[in-house]
Formats: sequence, C-alpha cells, structure tokens
Amino acid sequence: MQTDVIVVGGGPAGLAFVRGLAGSDLSITLIERQPRAALADPADDGREIALTHRSEATLRELGAWDTIPAGAVAPLREARVLDGRSPFALSFAPGKGSTDRLGQLVANHHLRRAMFATVQDQPRLSWETGIGVAQVRRHGRGVAVTLDDGRRITAPLLVAADARFSATRAALGIPARVQHLGRTMLLVRAAHARDHDHVATESFGYDQTVALLPLAGRVSSVVLTLPTDLAARVAALPPAALSAELTRRTDARLGAMEALGRVYAYPLATVWSTHFAAPHAALIGDAAVGMHPVTAHGFNLGLRSAASLAALVRKAAATGGDIAAPSLLRRYEAAHRLAAGPLFAATEAIVRLYTDARPGARIARPALLHAAARLSPVRAGIAQVLMRH
Ligand SMILES: Cc1cc2nc3c(=O)[nH]c(=O)nc-3n(C[C@H](O)[C@H](O)[C@H](O)COP(=O)(O)OP(=O)(O)OC[C@H]3O[C@@H](n4cnc5c(N)ncnc54)[C@H](O)[C@@H]3O)c2cc1C
Repeated sequence: MQTDVIVVGGGPAGLAFVRGLAGSDLSITLIERQPRAALADPADDGREIALTHRSEATLRELGAWDTIPAGAVAPLREARVLDGRSPFALSFAPGKGSTDRLGQLVANHHLRRAMFATVQDQPRLSWETGIGVAQVRRHGRGVAVTLDDGRRITAPLLVAADARFSATRAALGIPARVQHLGRTMLLVRAAHARDHDHVATESFGYDQTVALLPLAGRVSSVVLTLPTDLAARVAALPPAALSAELTRRTDARLGAMEALGRVYAYPLATVWSTHFAAPHAALIGDAAVGMHPVTAHGFNLGLRSAASLAALVRKAAATGGDIAAPSLLRRYEAAHRLAAGPLFAATEAIVRLYTDARPGARIARPALLHAAARLSPVRAGIAQVLMRH
C-alpha cells in the first residue's frame, strides 16, 4: 500500500495532526493499536486537561470545541502554589484587563471523543485500527511500515504520535532521555463541602504533592503524587477510608472530601527526544516531549506540535513542494524545540525544587517562593506563558 502520510497513534496529537491536513488532498493512513470503537467512545482515564487559551482556539479551528458538551467545561480562574502547610501561596492569575480566566478544564476523554468526531469521515483518510506496527524501515524515498499482520505501507512521510515510550521513535533510531521518577500520580474525583471558586491549588509537601483541580459544582479532581509503593496502598483503600485519606492529605482545605468513583494511577516518567525529526519522519505529542504533568502542559504542547507540523506540510502540498523536505522537517523541529524547551526545563526545575528533601533545599524553598511572589512582573509573565502555550 502506498500513501502520502503515515501517522502512528490516534491520541489527541495524532488526531489533531490528521485533522490539520483535512482538505489538503494528501492521502493519510492512521495506524492505532486500539479498536476504532475505543477511539470513537474513549473510556474515562481520570485526566482533567487544563487547556490554555491557545489550545482552546486550536480546538475551535479544528472544529472539535463545539462538540464538547457545555457542562464538561470548567473555567480555571487562578492557580495557587502552596509550600506544604504554610499559609503563604504563590498566585498565578490573568493580568488586569485580560480575560477573566487562566484556561479551561476538560476531561481528556471528552477531548479525545471530540477530536475523533472531527476526523471520522475525513476524505482520503484510511484507518488501520486494532493493530500495531511490527517494523519501520527507511529507504531512499520514504518510509516502509510493516503492520503486525504482515501488510506493508509506504509513504514519503511518517509521523510518530504513539505516546512517550514511542516504539516508532525507537525504530527510527532517535534516542530519548527517559527519567523514571519512582513516583505515581493518583487521580480521583471528589465532592467537597466548600466552594473551590474555580481556583486550582498545587501543594508541595516533602513526601507528597497534592493538586486540586476545580470542576463543575463542588467537585474537584484530586491529584496525589506519592512514592509508588505508598500510592499502591492508597489506591487500594475502600471508599470510606479513601475519602478520609483525601480529607487528611488535602488538610481539609475544601472541607470533608467524598471520593467519587475509581482511582486512576499513572507511574511518572518524563521523556525528551534528542531530535523531533529524522529523514522522512517527525515526532509529535508525547512521542517528542513527555512532560511531567505537574505544570499541566503535555496536551497543550502536543496540540501545538501537531498544528505546527500540519501547517508546514499543508503549505508544501499546496505549492507542489516536497512534504518531507529536510528543510521543512528542520523548521518544524526548530519551532517545536523553541516552544517546548523552556517549559520542559522549567517544569524539571520545579519538580527538583519541590521533591528535594535535603535540609538546604528545605530552607531555600520558602525563600524562593517569597522572592517569586515579590517579583510580580515575573509572576505575570509566567501566567502569560501558561495561558499562551
Ligand atoms: C495524570 C496526567 C495528567 C495530565 N494532565 C494534563 C493537563 O492538565 N494538561 C495537559 O496539557 N496535559 C496533561 N497531561 C498530558 C497529556 O495527557 C498528554 O500529553 C497527551 O495525552 C499526549 O497526547 P499524545 O496523542 O501524544 O499521546 P497519547 O494520548 O498517549 O496517545 C497515543 C496513542 O498512540 C497509540 N499507540 C501507542 N503505541 C502504538 C503503536 N505502537 N501502534 C499504534 N498505536 C499506538 C495509543 O493507543 C494512543 O491512542 C496529563 C498526563 C497525565 C498522565
């Protein structure tokens, strides 16, 4: 089989890239391990995505935003960073005269469903779902992908969107810096006694990080980051004990907590690919950059990478150019490195600062927080960056 573009991975990044090529007249083959029904109606995975204004605008342009149920969108007005039990909070809020919110919170499964709806009937798109990739080979004029059932597909351009442990990236020979953090993030929705006022809080203790993401009504997504062995014990608690544990670990800031539904567990690992492109291939989404979720930017960056690559490929196709030209792929790589590099580095620095339990770091932490709070242009700048990306 011959096609113009092969995309491996039908997550948010892969689907956004495919949608970004709609109307370009390029033929696309999308390979996704999950069955098509699971893409059309994705299961809840517990993730609440904090969308930036830019991501919301991109989702509108792609035609995905309007298919998200209105009740599934919760505004995020402010984010506060707390140092353990200290009453001091570093606040990030939109500047004066700006829009009244930092972003919007939408569950990942709603976003995935909306993205699928935009591409399900896209002309010139072939689906290979419920199947994986057995082999990837580069040749002079493109890439050949062999599916698990032995069929072979060739194309001048291959786009890897198959998540942070991307097998396609490895098959292309692109190395990545992978850091397993020995911690697990637990996600559980909980009802609580007090209003959250649409303020998210992130509280860094020495043995745990607790984020509260405000959803509709008096409900929040509780995000607990714990050493992996402890996380397993907390995840296994029966409902009443789990609710009591959430109340205790959140210092009852929103009153008594009542766990709603199951706990989702994600062992934490970050990934930085040394290159985002190779001859006849590009990496997008988590396959390029697997961010630590603490700054809530993986989805936003993935969407940005998909939009940036799709714009370059569309333009080349429209002008009769080479859609896999080395100069095109270099431009994509440079643009995405510029977008992702500072955020990735800043996120790593935050994680280091807040997980370093050595006495020196413990002393430095409150001082750094207070210093950051005094530098209000810095704070406003960070809020702007968070909103823009
Ligand atoms: C707990 C948690 C909370 C998060 N919160 C936020 C947040 O608030 N804001 C934010 O911006 N980001 C957040 N993120 C990050 C965000 O969820 C990811 O960045 C985003 O899902 C990445 O999209 P993707 O399409 O690159 O990869 P994925 O969503 O992982 O999709 C990859 C797809 O590829 C398929 N696949 C994998 N391997 C193969 C293969 N070999 N062959 C075929 N198909 C394959 C998979 O089945 C999957 O469908 C969070 C992440 C976690 C873990």
